[in-house]
Formats: sequence, structure tokens, C-alpha cells
Amino acid sequence: MTDYTLLGWMVFLGGGTIMVLQLIVPNWQGACDVVTNFLPAGKSVWLTIDDGPDPEDTPRLLELLAAHQAKATFFLIGQRAEQYPELVDAIRASGHEIGCHTYTHPTRTFWLAGRCKTRRELDCALPHIERERGEVTLYRSPVGIKSIFLRGLLQQRGLRCVGWTIRSGDGLGQDPDVIVHRVVNNVRPGAIILMHEGYRVASAVRIVAIQRVLESLTRDGYDFIQPTTDQLRTVPVKSLTPEPTTTTKELLCN
Ligand SMILES: [Zn+2]
Repeated sequence: MTDYTLLGWMVFLGGGTIMVLQLIVPNWQGACDVVTNFLPAGKSVWLTIDDGPDPEDTPRLLELLAAHQAKATFFLIGQRAEQYPELVDAIRASGHEIGCHTYTHPTRTFWLAGRCKTRRELDCALPHIERERGEVTLYRSPVGIKSIFLRGLLQQRGLRCVGWTIRSGDGLGQDPDVIVHRVVNNVRPGAIILMHEGYRVASAVRIVAIQRVLESLTRDGYDFIQPTTDQLRTVPVKSLTPEPTTTTKELLCN
């Protein structure tokens, strides 16, 4: 193998690796412009709740949010929205925003999806999520995985791809305290918090983790808001300055 051939293979494989990383790493820019945080007007965060609607969880979440005067964005799965249209209407009637979270929630193979499959995941979902009442402008990929056709298809439909600043881990964890601690210790104004509803969340965590996050951050003076389009930013999460949390503030004072 000549040096040039070797160099060619290195460039090819390196480029391929970068492309795959753009597709499978949730907040990696490139395959899409991914919103990772927002420019806060005050001490505010953006709570996002994925994988609904759910007949058990959604009504309880709407009550909890109302009790905390909090707004959230629900990224709904199209198939579930089709199954529970009354819950889609209830979310919208409560003043919360709704985003598209694909039709079937494909995960492992979505980064390999072709143009038709990617288009179906959007176009089959949107009618059930919009329900002729509201135009949806936000999209979140399942587990943050994107296909190479996503950017163009999102642009055509006026959708922004939203990632997150803080992954709560509620879809994997069994202990609500660990999940709440992770959120509280990483929170800062302008953070997007990723949480989930529905049967995939462990029963010990379901609802409880979101309730405790609402309680804890409200106590710390945070507002739960829906940022405007102008506030959305795609800067890398690691470059954001963390806000001292209650825990670190206490450590600094003691
Ligand atoms: Zn999801």
C-alpha cells in the first residue's frame, strides 16, 4: 500500500467516523443544528418530557405542572398521539408546547434510515401531533439519533431539532433521588432538561422524579418556561458556565 493509498484510507475512515458520530451523538452538530440550551431572560429552565402521551402519566403531569405554575414541552410519539388524541388536546389546552418525537420512535437503526423512512417518521407523526390546532415547530430525535436525511426534511417542514443540556437518566435509573440529584447538580439558567413519561420509565421513578425536580428547582428560584425561537442556541453544552447549585453553594459557605 503506498503512502497516498494509506492516507486516502485514513481520510475516508476518519470522515466516516465523524459522520457516524454526528448521527449517533445526541448534541453533536453537523447532521443537524441541534438546540442545546437557550438564552435565559432570568433564572429559568426548559423542562422537556418525551415519549408520551400516556393515559396514566400525562393527566397527572398536567396537574403537577399547573400546581408549580410551570410550562413544559411534550415531545410526543406519533403512534401514541394517534392512540390518545384527547391527551394531545389536553396538553395543548393546558398551555404547554408540543413537539414531534417521530412516529414509531426508532432507535438503534435510525442513523441508517433512508430518506423515505425518515420522511415517514415525520409525516406520519405530524398530523396526529398537530391535530389541525397548532403548528409544530420543534422536533427531537429518539435517543438523539439522527439520519443523514433529517436536516433537509426538518428544514422543509419548519422544524428545529432540539437536544438537551441535562439528561436526567430517568429512562434508565431506578432511584429517583439519583435522577433528581443529577438534574439539580447540573442545572443552570438556560438549561434544557430531558425527562420521560410512560411505561418505559421504572415504576419507582415514574412521575416521582419529575415531581421532585419541579419541587427542588422551584425552591431554588427557577421558573419553568418555554423559550422563544430567538432564545434557542446551539452552542456546545460543555462551554456553558455552570450555575452554582444549592449543594455547591452550601459547600462554599460552610
Ligand atoms: Zn424518546
